[in-house]
Amino acid sequence: MWTLAALAVPGRLLGALWSLLAPLLLGLWAALRPAGAQGGRGLPEGRPGPQGAGEEEEEEEEEDQDRPLTPTSVNYHFTRQCNYKCGFCFHTAKTSFVLPLEEAQRGLRLLKEAGMEKVNFSGGEPFLKDRGEYLGRLVRFCKEELGLPSVSIVSNGSLIRERWFKEYGQHLDILAVSCDSFNEEVNALIGRGQGRLNHVENLRRLRRWCRQYRVAFKVNSVINRFNVDEDMRAHIQELNPVRWKVFQCLLIEGENVGASALREAERFVISEEQFQAFLDRHRGLPCLVPESNAKMKDSYLILDEYMRFLNCRAGRKDPSPSILDVGVEEAIKFSGFDQQAFLKRGGKYVWSKADLQLDW
Ligand code: SF4
Repeated sequence: MWTLAALAVPGRLLGALWSLLAPLLLGLWAALRPAGAQGGRGLPEGRPGPQGAGEEEEEEEEEDQDRPLTPTSVNYHFTRQCNYKCGFCFHTAKTSFVLPLEEAQRGLRLLKEAGMEKVNFSGGEPFLKDRGEYLGRLVRFCKEELGLPSVSIVSNGSLIRERWFKEYGQHLDILAVSCDSFNEEVNALIGRGQGRLNHVENLRRLRRWCRQYRVAFKVNSVINRFNVDEDMRAHIQELNPVRWKVFQCLLIEGENVGASALREAERFVISEEQFQAFLDRHRGLPCLVPESNAKMKDSYLILDEYMRFLNCRAGRKDPSPSILDVGVEEAIKFSGFDQQAFLKRGGKYVWSKADLQLDW
């Protein structure tokens, strides 16, 4: 006891001295350390700049990474079922499960309380369940009950009827329709097609309805081996979407590549150079929003049919616990979501039709 008491006095003195000197020493070290010795992470790719500016950005990024994740924009894939058979599909029909409507609404309310501003309903094909009724009720719920600034849908468009627009169009901000080619033969090769429905003619009809019912119209295209040489400029100009999202075909283990996958998408894959050549050809279109594999990586918050976040960090979709069981704050820790990558790819944009000021 005596020895410990005797040691405690110089220990306290040393502690007080250290708390006085530590800020001075750390400040001196930060000022004098070599430029390369910054803890292992360099400037973000493609953003060279003066050394000082780089350090500031890096500090901001580190602060951002410490911030709790917010589900600002969520992609809810409530069904995996689809009436198409696209060869590169990266969210395939591995289950037929869909949550009861009330449970889905409960989860959406939890997300809103956690900071969600935009929800995008996707699949599978979201209009397949109850001929679009399930989807329509979710859309109305998110706008009317939750007051979300933005509610959007991604669909292949084949099952959308005018009566859906009449009933629910007013609650929808953006409808994105997938179209990979303006050549029906190419669409058939890709697997985007069903019976006698002409995918391109249908796209034009949906464009008209969007104008009539005041829903912002968007086109999504996946660039792959079969459409990479196509020139789509005239068609896109005619359709005049608010955004044309152009994705590079992506491989996901267990979905479209690997032993347990329902697709074999390797034959659709294109190189970075091929993707860039496609983008260069369409560069003049102001609505073009390119998304390479690198940009897509970890920059989407994806919720599956059980309301589990899907973590794609390892190149496959590893599910978190469901937000319905553990809440959003806990589940999102397993999401693999990179908030910085989301902002860098322009994930936040004018997404409410009230703010888009469209010339319908
Ligand atoms: S339309 Fe979409 S969900 Fe359906 S098979 Fe094609 S890529 Fe998959």
